[in-house]
Amino acid sequence: MHRNIDYGWIDVITSGSMYAGKTTELIRRIRTFILARRTAVVFQPSVARRYTEGEEVVSHDGLRLQARYVDNPNEILWYAETHRPDVIGIDEVQFFDDGLVEVVQELANRGHYVIAAGLSITSEGKPFGCMPQLLAIADNITNVYGVCVVCGEPATKAFALRPKTAVVEIGADDKYEARCRRCWLEGRRARGEAV
Ligand SMILES: [Zn+2]
Repeated sequence: MHRNIDYGWIDVITSGSMYAGKTTELIRRIRTFILARRTAVVFQPSVARRYTEGEEVVSHDGLRLQARYVDNPNEILWYAETHRPDVIGIDEVQFFDDGLVEVVQELANRGHYVIAAGLSITSEGKPFGCMPQLLAIADNITNVYGVCVVCGEPATKAFALRPKTAVVEIGADDKYEARCRRCWLEGRRARGEAV
């Protein structure tokens, strides 16, 4: 978004729906900084590992960037203290607890440019993990949209194809689909689920 990154900054890329291009946008922005000869690193929560056993972040359309997996957001802080990267990307932030919000705030206060990407709501329509707090402290927010697989309108929701059995179900392609609010509501009502 801007290149004067000598002071801290918090970019948040978010969507209510998966397959909206959050990770694609995150990778694109990180690459721009790398081209500008800035040092950058990308983190993901270990729970969100997908498509690969290797240490990389992969978008649904196949873009890749090397990434580090962490279980605890404080590991990001420790890494930053040692390596001092200019830019820090964090993907799938919704799987972190509110501890991540303090970490992101601290990173920005120390002068890092933070780009965080994640889902804003669960497939049940509830705020997802630390995302509400993260949106509140962001300097810039980019909302991206999927395409409703039922009607083709912009998708702002993730529809669970089967009723949920676990609190955290990682987005395997066969478990969720992108839907607009109307088609999400109709699908949940048809199963007698709360909306
Ligand atoms: Zn729709």
